Amino acid sequence: MPLVVQRRELTLWEQLYFPALLAGFAITLRHFFMTLFGDRRKKVTLEYPEEKWPVPRGYRGAPTLVRDQEGREKCVACQLCEFVCPPRAITIQPGELPSDAKNSKIEKFPEKFQINMLRCIYCGFCEEVCPEQAIFLQQEYSLTGYSREELIHDKQKLFELGGVMEDKIFKWKNK
Ligand code: SF4
Ligand code: SF4
Repeated sequence: MPLVVQRRELTLWEQLYFPALLAGFAITLRHFFMTLFGDRRKKVTLEYPEEKWPVPRGYRGAPTLVRDQEGREKCVACQLCEFVCPPRAITIQPGELPSDAKNSKIEKFPEKFQINMLRCIYCGFCEEVCPEQAIFLQQEYSLTGYSREELIHDKQKLFELGGVMEDKIFKWKNK
């Protein structure tokens, strides 16, 4: 059963255009004088992009790839994130590790890993599904570029943005 919310009748004062307009100007003027003469801690603007708003814990910014504390790529190219990504923003080309490699136990690694940030909807499914805790949505929210190609992040860019994330589980080791 849908809930119908009755629209309230506006008063004559509310129906006039100018009171609302003047109230808006009053707020702008208040902030203007507060910034000029008031306590500077109360300023309401930031010098963006040098200053940025702090984001809350768990904020979902750009997806990135991370290395563990030994500098090792955590991704094992299982392609689960590629499969689950709703807008198909992820493209992975797995490569096979040679049998004499130090970490050959893992078998696969991402030869190519791309995330198309023009498609990404910041849903976080890739982070949730990853069995290796290799992909994280971090706090970066201001990604810009001069071309569409710049916003297709390759493996190098993804690791650059991701950095190192301490691995608490560390379920596999080198041979
Ligand atoms: S955050 Fe969502 S849309 Fe973006 S890459 Fe991950 S799964 Fe795809
Ligand atoms: S980031 Fe995680 S889910 Fe995606 S391919 Fe690598 S290991 Fe698999």
